[in-house]
Amino acid sequence: MELLKTPSFPIENITPDVKKLAYAIKNTMYHNKGVGLAAVQIGTNINLIVIDPEPEKKNCTIMINPKIIWKSDTSNVDKEGCLSCPGILCHIPRANKIDIEYTDLDGEKIYKNNCTPWESRIILHEISHTNGELIIDYLGLLQQRLYFDKLRKIVKKTKRIAKK
Ligand SMILES: [Zn+2]
Repeated sequence: MELLKTPSFPIENITPDVKKLAYAIKNTMYHNKGVGLAAVQIGTNINLIVIDPEPEKKNCTIMINPKIIWKSDTSNVDKEGCLSCPGILCHIPRANKIDIEYTDLDGEKIYKNNCTPWESRIILHEISHTNGELIIDYLGLLQQRLYFDKLRKIVKKTKRIAKK
């Protein structure tokens, strides 16, 4: 949990290691049936995220140092889950539309505008990870405590199953 609360470092050079990590993140995301994953979620806090709003089409986008350039004034609230926060969905308000800028794996600067609300939600969720924020930060203190109790029970149960 500690690393997940730490902001990610910007990537200055796209080394072979960065590329290897990007593919590992992509595979982990598909393996867990996610629509997005940030490097920090697999233990490396460099600023890299992978998203795929339509995972059945397997057409993901790898974004290095993604930055929000513009956010719409209008927002919507929807339930969000996270591979790093198992067993919980949180109601999170997100901007309806965003414009972003990022670098791709070839080092090219990409400007992406008119993201759909679904894309925007995924990208904003992943960018939150690079800022050390989690969906459970949106819960009240009591709800957070209840969640951590539940999480401990899940972990205990998993350990019991693993022992069998
Ligand atoms: Zn997440």
